[in-house]
Amino acid sequence: MVKIDKIEKKLVETASKAMESAYVLWGLKVGAAVLAEDGQIYEGCNIESWISGLGTCAERCAINHAVLHGCRKIEAIAIVMSIQSHNEPRPCGACLQYIYDFADNPKIKIAMAKAENGRILSETVRVNTLEEMLPFPFKK
Ligand SMILES: [Zn+2]
Repeated sequence: MVKIDKIEKKLVETASKAMESAYVLWGLKVGAAVLAEDGQIYEGCNIESWISGLGTCAERCAINHAVLHGCRKIEAIAIVMSIQSHNEPRPCGACLQYIYDFADNPKIKIAMAKAENGRILSETVRVNTLEEMLPFPFKK
């Protein structure tokens, strides 16, 4: 198991709880949680739509939640995916760019794990920096 710090553990636990709220029509449940500049944790879940492209990923939902509360920067993020997924839990390309847009700096940590019914599978936990996962972000 990857060693994670206290904040990352809290973010993974919060994302795991948020995953249970996911609105899923055909996909899998995903939860996310961000540590925002105000020191608070804001969670999000994926919300699907029958209209292609209209739904949103959990990561963007969590960031939008932080923005709603006046935050413009995030300091860490966790993503938790259902154990039903065959894929490794990680943000999609669009979310990596969105995380970059609101990241305090490119070295913020992205914690990823799989979970089910609030139980986090410790062997699936992994932590990378944003710049490791998105080495060439779009910059204005
Ligand atoms: Zn995404």
